[in-house]
This record gives sequence, structure tokens and C-alpha cells, in this order.
Amino acid sequence: MMTIKVYEVNRSGMVRVLRAEAPVAPATTVDPSAAFPDCQCPKCSAEDQADTAYRVLLSHTTYCPACLAGAPCVTKDALGRTWRRGRS
Ligand SMILES: [Zn+2]
Repeated sequence: MMTIKVYEVNRSGMVRVLRAEAPVAPATTVDPSAAFPDCQCPKCSAEDQADTAYRVLLSHTTYCPACLAGAPCVTKDALGRTWRRGRS
């Protein structure tokens, strides 16, 4: 069993208890609706797109017969260019 106590400390170090220490049961499930949404700023959006492009490239090389054989593949080259463009 865990405990929780809620208090605040002001600038001079004075402590004021808002809720006395009390036992709490640890959470056994995660509520996904409590998570923060994905950041929408241009930098994070660009990183998300680069990540997606990289995953598409990796997925292709996992299943493409030419890539698996180590042969030249125009699709792999195009996916690689898309990924590298998204990183800059
Ligand atoms: Zn390929």
C-alpha cells in the first residue's frame, strides 16, 4: 500500500498541509484519455513525418524481394529520399 500527502511550501519555506497523509491503492490500469495529445508544433510535426517515412522505408526493405536480395531497388531509393528530405 502506498500513501499520499498533499502540501504546499511558500517562498519562506512554510509548509501547509492540504490533504493529510492517507493510504492509496496503486493504479492497476492506465487511462489513455489522461495522456497529453501529440504536440502540434511545426518541429514535432516534421519529426513525426520523418519517423513515419523511416518506418515505411524499413517496412519496405523487410518485405521487398529485391531489397532482401541486396539488389538495387528504385522504390527503396525513393523512400530513402523522402525520409532524408523530411529530416532536414
Ligand atoms: Zn525494395
